[in-house]
This record gives sequence, C-alpha cells and structure tokens, in this order.
Amino acid sequence: MAKPAIIWSTNILFASTFIGAITLVPWYGLTYGYSAELWLIAALCLGYCGMSITVGYHRLWSHKTFDAHPFVRFILAIGGAFALQNSALHWSSDHRVHHRHVDSEEKDPYAATKGFWYSHIGWMLREYQPLRYQDYSNCRDLQKDNIVMWQHRNYWWLTWLLNLGVPLAFGWLCGDVVGGFLLIGVLRLVASHHFTFFINSLAHIWGKRTYTEKNSARDNGWLALLTYGEGYHNFHHLFEYDYRNGIRWYQFDPSKWFIWGMSKFGLTQNLRKAPTERILKAKLETQKKRLDLKMELSLHAERWRESLQHEYDLLLQRIQEFYALRKQLLQLKKDKLSATYQQERDELKSRIEQLKASIQQHQQRWQQLAAEVTALSPA
Ligand SMILES: [Zn+2]
Ligand SMILES: [Zn+2]
Repeated sequence: MAKPAIIWSTNILFASTFIGAITLVPWYGLTYGYSAELWLIAALCLGYCGMSITVGYHRLWSHKTFDAHPFVRFILAIGGAFALQNSALHWSSDHRVHHRHVDSEEKDPYAATKGFWYSHIGWMLREYQPLRYQDYSNCRDLQKDNIVMWQHRNYWWLTWLLNLGVPLAFGWLCGDVVGGFLLIGVLRLVASHHFTFFINSLAHIWGKRTYTEKNSARDNGWLALLTYGEGYHNFHHLFEYDYRNGIRWYQFDPSKWFIWGMSKFGLTQNLRKAPTERILKAKLETQKKRLDLKMELSLHAERWRESLQHEYDLLLQRIQEFYALRKQLLQLKKDKLSATYQQERDELKSRIEQLKASIQQHQQRWQQLAAEVTALSPA
C-alpha cells in the first residue's frame, strides 16, 4: 500500500528549526555569545509556551478539568499559538480521539503502538487521517468558547506574529536581534515542540503502569520534569477529568500548582479531582492483576493465593468504609444540626482513626505478601 502524502509545510518547519537549533544556535553562541537576559527570556518563553499547552490545551480545553476566567483563557490561547501546535480546537479534537481510542493503530492519531518515531513526530508528517482534519464534532462544547473560536480563526497570523515578532522584539530590546531570533525563536520553539511530543511518545513507552494496564500510558517522574507535570500519564489516562497528573504533593506538576494557585485568586474554579478511594482501588486492582499473573506462572503459588485474595478483599472494603465515614463526618460538620452533634462527631472521628490504623496494618501485610509472590520462581 502506498504511503499517505507527505505534508511538506510541517516537514520543512520541523526539519529547518531542528537543524537550526543544532547548528546555527551553538555556532552563534560560540562566536558571539548570548547575553544572560536573552537566556532568561528564552527560558520564560519556553515555560509560557509549554504551560499554555499543558494547562490550556490539555487540562482546560481537552479534558475540562476546571473552569477558567476569560483573561486566563486568553493568555493560554496566545501561549498556545506561540507554541505552534495548531489551534486549541484542533489540538483538543485530536487529543480526545487519542484518549477514546488509545493505542488503536487505525484510530489513535498518535498511537504509541506504532512506535516511538510515529507517536513522537511521524504522525504529523504525512496525511494519515485526512478525513479527520476538519471534523471537530467531538468538540462541540469548545465551539461555544469565544476565545477558542477566535484563536482558531486567527491562528495563522497569530502564530507567525508571535514566533517572529516576540523573538525579534526581545532581540532588539537586548541589542542582539540575531541572538534573540536564534534563542527565543528557534531554540525555544524546538525545545517546546519536543518536550510536548515526549508526552505522546516516551510517556507511552517509558515508566510504570501503576493505575491501569489497559493501555500503554506510563507514569514517569523524570519525564514530568520536562513536561510541566504531564509525565504521570498512566494516572492521567485513567482519571483524565482530574486537574492533577501528579497526585502527591511532592510529585513535580507545575501545571497542577498553577491551576490551584489561580483558584486562590478566583481566576480558576471547579477544579475536579478523582475520589481518593477510586485511585487507591485502581492501584490495588492493577497490582493484584499483576500478582495473579505471576502466581499462574509460578511454582508453589497455591500457598499464597488464598491469603492474597483475603487481604485484597479486606483492604478494598476498609478503604471504601474509610472514605464513606469521612464523607459522613464532613456532612455532619457542615450541617451541625443534630443536638448530639459533638458526640456523633467524636464517635465518627474515633471510628475513622481505628479504620486508618487497620488499613495501615493491612497495607503492610499486603506489601509483604506481594513481595513474596513477586519473588516466586517461575514454573
Ligand atoms: Zn496519552
Ligand atoms: Zn489527556
């Protein structure tokens, strides 16, 4: 079968900027040097472009994980055009198809099952899905967003203006127009492109599948450093409506921090989160499936099967109970209606504490069993 037609404009853009970044940028730096201000501005522009994609294109528009004030949406739409990754409408449409048909070689626009190159950049170099190109029927909600539609209609002149105008203007201000063009124009763009592309390629290849093994998405803390928090991609594919990707406070996710921070100023609202018990359940289920498979393939596994199942059922039940009680407590605190409010509250609190201790105990037991099963020798 003949390969789909080459899209020359994208090929020329990616090739010329990449070649420029690895030849002209270092040559100019070694010959004339770049000022510290230019480096700083380039880094800030890189962060602005990247976060506009992760916070705006991805978490706000593709997945509706929070609502944002028009001012924030405008700033993100401008940054998205600066990042040169097509309009927010187009990007979100592709991304929704990616989630819906993840790993399908026919339907996922950047299926990781077709290899690193294809999912990283190859999918944009040929007309793989010509019919999908103008079909935005999966983004009817976004078609009601004035800012999204304004950016979509004005995308081409915006992206040209930003990608040429901003680097040249800063270069002129810093007294080095060529340096500005190379650092803020070329190097920033290439880095911004590939850091985002890593989410489609590496985040589906390299890392752990903590919450689900139903798709290729991986959690990877290293990748989170380059992708403004999007490295926790396994979690994201299961809980795509959660505004966080790294759910622990220490997991590097500046996109999450930004969204949360803006909510303190009333600029973002309705931040959506997956219920904790569902997250724990998914993690436990995935681990259990892995252990079941291991037992099937191992010698003398019978001894563990029953106790593992027992601990698993128990843990699930306790976790559910724990969160149900917590919900009850929150409701009680909110209403404060009953005459015996204080007594009820204290009782609930002590039951919650007991459960917490029991969960910790059983978690230890579970981990111990899991380690023993993992160490079994294959049949
Ligand atoms: Zn993905
Ligand atoms: Zn997504």
